[in-house]
Amino acid sequence: MSDENTAIRGMIFNKITLDFPEKNELLFRKKYFSDSIIQFRIAFLLVTVLYAVFGYLDSRIVPEYANLFQIIRYYVVVPILSVVLLLSFTDFFLKIWQVLLFISFIVAGVGISIMTMLVPENYSYYAGLMLIFSAGYFFIKLRFFLATIAGWTTLIIFNLGVIIYAHTSGEIILSNNFFFASANLIGMFAAYNIEYYARRDFYLNQELDKQMVAVEEINKNLEVKVVERTIELVDAKNKAEQSDRLKSAFLANMSHEIRTPMNAILGFAYFLGDAEDDAERNECIELIVGNGKHLLSLIDDIIDISKVEAGVLELNHTEFILNDLMQEILKLFLVDQNVKSKELKLLCVNALGSTESKIISDRKRIKQILINLVNNACKFTDTGSVEFGYKIDQKSLLFYVKDTGHGISTDQQKYIFERFMQGALDSTPNLEGSGLGLAISKSLVKLFGGNIWVESEIGKGSVFCFTLPFNQSTESIINLNQKV
Ligand code: ADP
Repeated sequence: MSDENTAIRGMIFNKITLDFPEKNELLFRKKYFSDSIIQFRIAFLLVTVLYAVFGYLDSRIVPEYANLFQIIRYYVVVPILSVVLLLSFTDFFLKIWQVLLFISFIVAGVGISIMTMLVPENYSYYAGLMLIFSAGYFFIKLRFFLATIAGWTTLIIFNLGVIIYAHTSGEIILSNNFFFASANLIGMFAAYNIEYYARRDFYLNQELDKQMVAVEEINKNLEVKVVERTIELVDAKNKAEQSDRLKSAFLANMSHEIRTPMNAILGFAYFLGDAEDDAERNECIELIVGNGKHLLSLIDDIIDISKVEAGVLELNHTEFILNDLMQEILKLFLVDQNVKSKELKLLCVNALGSTESKIISDRKRIKQILINLVNNACKFTDTGSVEFGYKIDQKSLLFYVKDTGHGISTDQQKYIFERFMQGALDSTPNLEGSGLGLAISKSLVKLFGGNIWVESEIGKGSVFCFTLPFNQSTESIINLNQKV
């Protein structure tokens, strides 16, 4: 109930004419017309018939005026009402019906007024005008404002006629006026209320429709949200299950990875004790150092991935010359076992000159990513070349590592950046790796705010790319460029 009251308070309308603001008024009038048309036709038919039937009384009550009264009834009022009734079956009636009803009210009222004027003391005609007032206000569906004007206009015309033609006493005229004016007042107030409630219903229905649309919209959104959430949950569940599987695989793989160099270290340590000459001793030491280094890098990877998982890995920005870093990596791999044994061509391509390439960024982490990628490229390329370098790409530095190696299948490309993948990929040839390099690289690139991806074709080779956006490092490049 209180909701209804709150809604009604929002109803805007003209307090005198009851009109709504423009667009709503048009809608209301359409609705009022369709709700009223049947009642209007019945009312008009009845009023017209009664108007005609009452002609019977004329010749009996006032034979001296019967002719004139019948002309009024049968040549003016009844034909006009009949035409209006017929017009109600046309399409354009909607546009003109209220004006026609207004005219009909006045015509019928003035008709009886003339009769009352001529025989003012005759109660039959006085009663007839009262009937016209009640029909005009309550029956024919003329709207309040027009009915009021028509009602009072009729009364004014009656009074003008009475003043000009009356042959009767002022008391009768006064008493008639009392009743006619009262009928108009009662009609006005009742018609006002009837129309107000019709408008109120219309407005409340409109509000209800709006709310229903809003509720439907909310329902639709809810459904979409439920579907989205369900998909998210299924995704999360799948990821959790996959992550669980991958972690188990990773642990199994790691144990194996750690045991291999550990066994080698222990084994060669025993051999060292039994070594017969320096050459044998040196060989043992070399193997112990090599396996120790491998073990150390494995442990470094595990620490890095653990830090990434825990979200505690932070970048440490310093100023450095990027080209120097690239050169360092080139030198490192020129003596790499894979490059030397397979006689790979190693190329480093820099987009900027040495001084221009001064940047502020995390040197250690860029180096780590590049070493991971170049190392993989050398590891998985049997013949041909490995090229790495960087370009300036709009708002980021684009690094790439290109090889002419095995290539990676489209299926595998989807997983290689995932953590602990190597152990889970049966097809991956075990070429000494933790399976963490790409996962760590991806996490680091993300930490920089960049992207990493691979384009590859089996048998032709692969290109690994990653971007480092300008907001950190390259703005500094620009600044430093300006200094140069
Ligand atoms: P891993 O320590 O095994 O190299 P990574 O995460 O670095 O671990 O790489 C995951 C897997 O992706 C590799 O085992 C290999 O199968 C594949 N891979 C990575 N880089 C290349 C490449 N340049 N060419 C072909 N395969 C690659």
